[in-house]
Amino acid sequence: MTDVSSAGTWHATACILCECNCGIQVELGGEDGRHLARIRGDRAHPSSQGYTCNKALRLDHYQHGPDRVTRPLRRRADGRFEEIDWDTAIREVAARLAKVRDTHGGEAIFYYGGGGQGNHLGGAYSGATLSALGSRYRSSALAQEKTGDFWVHGFMLGTGARADFEHAEVALFLGKNPWHSHGLPRARHTLRQISKDPARTLIVIDPRRTETAELADIHLQVKPGTDAWLVAAMVGVLVQEDLVDHAWICEHTSGAEEVLARFRSIPVARYAAVAGIAEDVVRLVARRLASAKSVAIAEDLGVQMNRHSTLVSWVEKLLWALTGNYAKPGAMNAFSTLGKLFSTSPRTRPSPVVGARIIGGLVPCNVIADEILADHPAATAR
Ligand code: SF4
Repeated sequence: MTDVSSAGTWHATACILCECNCGIQVELGGEDGRHLARIRGDRAHPSSQGYTCNKALRLDHYQHGPDRVTRPLRRRADGRFEEIDWDTAIREVAARLAKVRDTHGGEAIFYYGGGGQGNHLGGAYSGATLSALGSRYRSSALAQEKTGDFWVHGFMLGTGARADFEHAEVALFLGKNPWHSHGLPRARHTLRQISKDPARTLIVIDPRRTETAELADIHLQVKPGTDAWLVAAMVGVLVQEDLVDHAWICEHTSGAEEVLARFRSIPVARYAAVAGIAEDVVRLVARRLASAKSVAIAEDLGVQMNRHSTLVSWVEKLLWALTGNYAKPGAMNAFSTLGKLFSTSPRTRPSPVVGARIIGGLVPCNVIADEILADHPAATAR
């Protein structure tokens, strides 16, 4: 094998396997000089500062996997595929999309994808493509689990919120194992930092003894599917023991009294029992949240793909809202997105074919097949 590597020359780039987009440096090599011969973290990167997880170090496996399709394939009349060049593929696809738009209207074009994780180009540029086509309906992998969280965010904030774990006194992970799933910069480093600092508290709510739970000061090993009871019990403690930040709520929220009234009568002991957590531990955790200068909380697929997921998202947000942990270092903060990957508008509308409720701007994944295969009402009316 001829190796045309530029050994010793490191090129700065970024890992695209998750939203953290850690800065990496790569050394090119292999037969074509384009393989990622060596990969390392980029210490000069302002966010990741040299950090990578083990996934980045396998990027060449994904980039040059033997089964990867590297050329456009066009189906022939006999059902098999033939390779075509990119100019031909782009021209033909654009012409066919334009024909659908001109014949049936842009609404007939459904878009799936858009880089919910690290591949942001698809997310950023898809908006322009959809506008040019007049397409109104889209979905992505985010619609499998995130729309309930987006919807609650939209109602409560009008935007999304991210947690500043790097500076949080108390970090709480709900159905999330960032040791593997990340979702925060330099996750393993940050988790270790919180875990070894006696002034900070790491709390994990998870039925599993995950790697993050192993590091936790408090692991609430909730019965699967009962997170709504556990978190509601914690909110109940905040309200009933008057651990709520009334000054912050008065200044920044509306409608709080209705919410507080609901939680004044929550039977904390019974809810804790449903979740399989001792009542005194539930109270201890709620008091720790209330006493901290800053609290950062993240929920993830463990609750978002579980029972009562939207309710869990709401009570989770009450934990940091009622303790005034918003818009300050170490707490929850609003964020802006680069591309229009989803919507935090609380408004919903029906999907065009089966009439399923579109939440977060994304057609639910479980109706996409029917949206495509069932007769469109507009077509059957003709
Ligand atoms: S956390 Fe891992 S997968 Fe995510 S961007 Fe960084 S190196 Fe890549």
